[in-house]
Amino acid sequence: MGFSIRRGVANLVRRGQRLAGKARCSVCLTYFKGALVKTIPTCSHSYCKTCLQKTYTRAMNDPEGILPPRCCGQELTMAFAGDFLAGYIPKELEMPDSVGHTDFRRRYLEILAERTSDPIYCAHCRSLGRQVFIPPEEINEEADSAVCSTCFQGTCTLCKRSNPHTFGNPCPIDSDESRQEIRYQRLSGRAGWKCCDGCGMMVSRDVGCAHVVCRCGQNVWLAF
Ligand SMILES: [Zn+2]
Ligand SMILES: [Zn+2]
Ligand SMILES: [Zn+2]
Ligand SMILES: [Zn+2]
Ligand SMILES: [Zn+2]
Repeated sequence: MGFSIRRGVANLVRRGQRLAGKARCSVCLTYFKGALVKTIPTCSHSYCKTCLQKTYTRAMNDPEGILPPRCCGQELTMAFAGDFLAGYIPKELEMPDSVGHTDFRRRYLEILAERTSDPIYCAHCRSLGRQVFIPPEEINEEADSAVCSTCFQGTCTLCKRSNPHTFGNPCPIDSDESRQEIRYQRLSGRAGWKCCDGCGMMVSRDVGCAHVVCRCGQNVWLAF
């Protein structure tokens, strides 16, 4: 009796907070004003600023940590988390980065590059002597192309040279087999990507669904 009344009151308080436009962080279970919490559309889990920062810092600090951090098998992106991480300088993390910057995003990309198999660097920036890593979330896998956010030039993710490939600038990786091998090397460890049993193409998961139909018509189930 006493228990159910207490629970009833707790439910009312929670409902009141929801009605007041508050959202609860799924990690620390604290209520915040809606704008102070970010919710992942696919699994509906919410993160407050502190918990999101800790999630990144923990994964970056742990040499075995998986990057990008994941929630329910879904990779977290800088597009999602970026503004909660801006200006953040964690004590637990080795900052600044190798070139002396204390920007969290730069440090994150540096560690992410180290842990990415077959990382993509901008071909145009490299020709100018700058090493600019292009994070997985900025790669257009369907087009085998990555656009650099520093110089806005494209890089082919197969041959790692500048693209678009034209008649005068053809991609030297010209067999389907070697293209597939390179895609496989880069994507097989990534959340949400799997090799199709039917044709060997890499397929990605549709938002919120573990089942996809490959270009060849084969059904592919993605397990996490
Ligand atoms: Zn929290
Ligand atoms: Zn989740
Ligand atoms: Zn560039
Ligand atoms: Zn190419
Ligand atoms: Zn297929």
